[in-house]
Amino acid sequence: MAAGALDTRADTGLSEEQRDFVDALRDYCDRELGPDRLRELTDGFGDLHNEDTARQMAELGWYGITIPEEYGGSGGTFSDAVLFLEETARGQAPIGAYGVTLIVVGALNRFGTEDQKRDLLGRVAAGGGLAIAMSEPEAGSDVAALKCAARRENGSYVLEGTKMWCSYAHKASHVLIVCRTERTDSPHEGLSMIFVPRDAEGLTITPIDTLGGRETNELHLDGVAVPEEALLGHEGGGWTQLMAGLNNERVILAALALGLAQRAFDDALAYAKERRQFGRPVGSFQAISHRFADLATDLAQVRLLVRWVARLTDEDPDRMLPQEASMAKLASTELAKRCALEGMQIMGGYGYATEYPMERYLRGALVQTIFGGTSEIQRNIIAKTLGL
Ligand SMILES: Cc1cc2nc3c(=O)[nH]c(=O)nc-3n(C[C@H](O)[C@H](O)[C@H](O)COP(=O)(O)OP(=O)(O)OC[C@H]3O[C@@H](n4cnc5c(N)ncnc54)[C@H](O)[C@@H]3O)c2cc1C
Repeated sequence: MAAGALDTRADTGLSEEQRDFVDALRDYCDRELGPDRLRELTDGFGDLHNEDTARQMAELGWYGITIPEEYGGSGGTFSDAVLFLEETARGQAPIGAYGVTLIVVGALNRFGTEDQKRDLLGRVAAGGGLAIAMSEPEAGSDVAALKCAARRENGSYVLEGTKMWCSYAHKASHVLIVCRTERTDSPHEGLSMIFVPRDAEGLTITPIDTLGGRETNELHLDGVAVPEEALLGHEGGGWTQLMAGLNNERVILAALALGLAQRAFDDALAYAKERRQFGRPVGSFQAISHRFADLATDLAQVRLLVRWVARLTDEDPDRMLPQEASMAKLASTELAKRCALEGMQIMGGYGYATEYPMERYLRGALVQTIFGGTSEIQRNIIAKTLGL
């Protein structure tokens, strides 16, 4: 470990191979993704997913980590994927669509047919993207209130409705649409998951402007017809299938937030050691150094938590971990926000200037406590597991 840094490779049960993997990722990001190159690849930081970078990472065997070898992947563990997410987020790799792609890969691994796996997992292993659309204008935290509907017609499903906030649909080959195939008295019944190709007739993808640039979309499905084989898993089994993937989704988002938190911390620390006022580095003032001490402690705790939940998932992929996964998502995303906010304060005016990346980290962190279940919803889940 370099003197004066926080060792993110610390022995949290990582194998030698995993430590080497982290080193290789860090080396790639340091070498290939300097500030000027990153600006170029992201069109001035407006588009945080670069397809060439995704393909390059696929060639290195990294994009298909959780995809079995028979479908073109490298057959790694969920813990390996979590290391990849943390390290590439820390290195600011422009593969913004990867997190959501990995969420859909999880659903495909669990419920996909042989044909679906061969086609869609194969595309991802080659650097492609997938998206998932649950949210709607009237169905946010209350996902089960969704109304988008699909009816069977001559061997096809025909979909009608509106979806909100579908991240990276514009870069995905297919969007997994969560929709209603039957109306019942229970909102949790009659839901299904259906793959729709991005270029399907009747699908309109409209960008939503956000603080994060070009990332998310509104979708309109106006009589979109897809063959019955586009159904993922069982008709009517959508809610159970969604629940089966929630642990993975929360840990994926937690790992991304952890990487961003670490990057904000690292940049602020480097700055505080360099920047001098009153004849000394600003980091030597106790008001600043204690902030770093607290953040370093929290980073170490959150890293243990995230890696622990990933390991539990590897030990038993079918085990539901609502308490643990929600704790990881809550703690990690709230920490990313704090690291970026503190980082900005520690850097003074330079933290606020767009010339430095701290304001970008802050914008990136703000959304993490909102998507994939807000912090309030994670607290509700944790409280419920405590019998409250
Ligand atoms: C950039 C971005 C990307 C996204 N990507 C995707 C995607 O790819 N696919 C997808 O399906 N969705 C996506 N989402 C949607 C995201 O998951 C929702 O925004 C989120 O679940 C919250 O829903 P909402 O925005 O409608 O807020 P609301 O549900 O309307 O909540 C508003 C406020 O009320 C609080 N609240 C709501 N219910 C409760 C409760 N029971 N107890 C306490 N507080 C409560 C919330 O915490 C929040 O503070 C994305 C959102 C954003 C902003």
